[in-house]
Amino acid sequence: MPVVIQLNELLLQVISLYFLCGDPELHCILLILMVIKVKIKERSVLARLAAYRLKSPSVAIVFGTTICLWNVSKETFLKNERWVRHELEHVRQYQKKGFFLFLFLYLRESISNGYYKNRFEAEARRAEARKDVIEDMVII
Ligand SMILES: [Zn+2]
Repeated sequence: MPVVIQLNELLLQVISLYFLCGDPELHCILLILMVIKVKIKERSVLARLAAYRLKSPSVAIVFGTTICLWNVSKETFLKNERWVRHELEHVRQYQKKGFFLFLFLYLRESISNGYYKNRFEAEARRAEARKDVIEDMVII
């Protein structure tokens, strides 16, 4: 948590400086700070539960900015560009709606329409072919 607070404070300082002097170098620093940092968690219990529910041998499930994996290594997952883009689109959906609202809407869609017809899943499947999905995100 202290790291997040420091980053936010740094971001505010850089934004203030940028608006004061408009320095293009500050603009670059601002863009770097605003990049969405995505984490990967291997052997996730929640992903294991999702794998059981979906009857799938391996699963990736996103919570906020963390991609939780079950029965697939980070290395193998990252080699599958379409799968990475799919999960990063879910990260973007969390960013757009906010953590709890997205989770609520996603679950509501899944209950009403099932996993495959869930509009957030359809959107993520379309994103698999789009190269721009990963432009403003970095996996740490
Ligand atoms: Zn998905």
